[in-house]
Amino acid sequence: MAMRQVAILGSTGSIGVNTLDVIRAHPARFNVVALTAGKQIELLAQQCVEFKPMIAVVSEAGDAARLEKMLLEQGVSTQVMYGPDALVSAVTESSCDTVMAAIVGAAGLVPALAAAKAGKRVLLANKEALVMSGNLFMQAMKSGGGELLPIDSEHNAIFQCLPNEFTKSTHNGLGVEELWLTASGGPFRSTPIEQLAAITPEQACAHPNWVMGRKISVDSATMMNKGLEVIEAFWLFGLPLEKIKVLIHPQSVVHSMVRYRDGSVLAQLGQPDMRTPIAYGLAWPERIEAGVAPLDLAQLAALNFSEPELARFPCLSLAFAAAKAGGTAPAVLNAANEVAVAAFLDAGLPYLQIPQVVEKTLDAIAVTNADSLETILAIDAQARSVAHDLMRQY
Ligand code: NAD
Ligand code: MG
Repeated sequence: MAMRQVAILGSTGSIGVNTLDVIRAHPARFNVVALTAGKQIELLAQQCVEFKPMIAVVSEAGDAARLEKMLLEQGVSTQVMYGPDALVSAVTESSCDTVMAAIVGAAGLVPALAAAKAGKRVLLANKEALVMSGNLFMQAMKSGGGELLPIDSEHNAIFQCLPNEFTKSTHNGLGVEELWLTASGGPFRSTPIEQLAAITPEQACAHPNWVMGRKISVDSATMMNKGLEVIEAFWLFGLPLEKIKVLIHPQSVVHSMVRYRDGSVLAQLGQPDMRTPIAYGLAWPERIEAGVAPLDLAQLAALNFSEPELARFPCLSLAFAAAKAGGTAPAVLNAANEVAVAAFLDAGLPYLQIPQVVEKTLDAIAVTNADSLETILAIDAQARSVAHDLMRQY
């Protein structure tokens, strides 16, 4: 068995740390060749000492100098680089064959796209990249000739429930009718609506089932996360939007489902633990130990399902509308949401203003074709600027 050479974009985040946890248990299967982080230098240094990658990347020059010094003191010969171009180098110059794309937000798009073009096995956690650039990204995967394995638990579940021969053009022949994305409904699934105005970042980040980074935790609370995932599923699996449904399932045990023509519904179940989809992506098509406790259905006793309440989750409707509008609309939705969520987390933007900023930004920017990276990056910058301007009025 050839060893997989793995680069992890965003190794200090929730997905990154879980990825290294799976890799740690399989030293004969995986070799870490590149690790990258934004600012968490101490953790990145520890990871470099343990996994000895060829390359480590951080965002800023000052942090790179500090990391270099720490590694030198520990006798680790990892090459330290910094900045957005270095993230691309980590993928293209590190002899990796597998890239975990786990940077949060638009910052992860360019290196993920580089991995796609270079024909790597791409383990995609960074859903924002696909939401922004779906068409371009899928084309890049095709021209690169690598494998795209979804890590987002819902998409990983659907991937597991689809036949191997499944493609965009064969789905009808294979009897696939609908994809059902499950959603926990987040921490405010049944909070009285009048209490939502006073929600704090701490409350929004306290997800009932999953431990995740702060941005995706807020997205789960607003259900923008599920909206982004609908768009993600649209690009990954190529089914028409009307065939992608969202179902509230508070226990987060059924990770998603595929409904077939003959009445069969296939589901993937498991603990809410990202190491399961990560291990599946790393070892595919094999299955390896992931360190996840076995599921005990008798102890769980009940699994519940219901329709999402759209009035409670306006972000979900906004995402559906952007998906339907197509072109650059999902990139605008994503950028405005990133700006509004950051302002909610760090600058006191009220929780209920998040959907308002997103909606007004979408209204302010005309939809065009999203067929080049330049267009997408320009629209991303424009949407951020519009969203910032809108927030100055509050
Ligand atoms: P996180 O905030 O915990 O980690 C983000 C990582 O990206 C960190 O390593 C951080 O240093 C790095 N980073 C952030 N900004 C950067 C920048 N500007 N330049 C370079 N690096 C930067 O986030 P997370 O929860 O691990 O999520 C990562 C991605 O995976 C997101 O797109 C998220 O939607 C997706 N995802 C996460 C989960 C989960 O359980 N955490 C589940 C499904 C999908
Ligand atoms: Mg998910």
